[in-house]
Amino acid sequence: MTAIIRGHDVGTVTETKQANRLIVAIDGPAGVGKSTAAKSLAARLGYLYLDTGALYRATAWAVIESGLDPADEVAVAALLPSLSIEMPLHHGTATVLVNRKDVTGELRTPGVSAAASVVSAIPAVRAWLLPIQRQIGAGGAVVAEGRDMGTKVFPSADVKFFLEADPNVRAQRRHRELVIAGHSGALEETNADLASRDTRDRSRAISPLVPAEDARHIDTSNLSATEVVDQMMAVIAAKL
Ligand code: C5P
Repeated sequence: MTAIIRGHDVGTVTETKQANRLIVAIDGPAGVGKSTAAKSLAARLGYLYLDTGALYRATAWAVIESGLDPADEVAVAALLPSLSIEMPLHHGTATVLVNRKDVTGELRTPGVSAAASVVSAIPAVRAWLLPIQRQIGAGGAVVAEGRDMGTKVFPSADVKFFLEADPNVRAQRRHRELVIAGHSGALEETNADLASRDTRDRSRAISPLVPAEDARHIDTSNLSATEVVDQMMAVIAAKL
C-alpha cells in the first residue's frame, strides 16, 4: 500500500475494517521514542506503520527546495497543488518520494526538522495532509505516530498513547541519532532545536501537541525501547 498525495488528490487505500484491526495512536514531542516504539509495535502486530512526521518533513523539504520561506503561508499554500508525496506503507521505515524523487535520506536534517515544525502550523498544509492520514486509518490495523493522532486525525482511535520524557534524555537520544546519521553539531544545539520545535508545536493555533483526554501517558525517560513496547502491548492485548 502506498500513501499518495498529489496536488489536492488523495491516493487510494484499499483496506477494510475488521473487528480486531485496531487504530493505535501515538503522540508526543520529539525524542521520546515514538518512532522506535511505533515501528516495533507495528511489526509485532503485523500492522501498518504510519509516520505522519515524514509527511510534514516531505512538505518542508519541497518548500525549502522551491526556495520558499516556510513561514510564508500564502506561498506554501500555493505550492501544494503542484506537489506529489508518495510513501509506501509497511511496518518498517518508509521511503518518501517528493515529485518522484527519493528524499528519504534528506528528511531528518536539523534544517528540515525546523522547517517541518514551521510549515505544520499552516492550516492549508494540515488540511492537505489530513484526508490521506484518515484514509489510511480507515482500514484499521495501523500504528500512527505524530503530534495530533489522538486529538485530531484519529479521535476515535482504539488505543491512544502519549509519550513523554525528560528534556535532557530526549536531546541525548536525538543527538545520538543525528551523529549516527552523520550530522555533526553539539548536544546543546540539539537541545535548543528540540526546545524551540516543542514550543512551536505546543503553542500553534491549529492541532497543537496536547495529550488526548483518553490517552495513556508513558514516561520513557528510564525505559528501554522494549519496555515501552511491552507496556503498550499489555494495553493493546486486552483489545485484540
Ligand atoms: O515526528 P517528527 O519529528 O518527524 O515531525 C516533524 C515535525 O512535523 C514536528 O516537529 C511537527 O511540527 C510536525 N508534525 C505535526 N503533526 C504530526 C506529525 C508531525 O505537526 N502529526
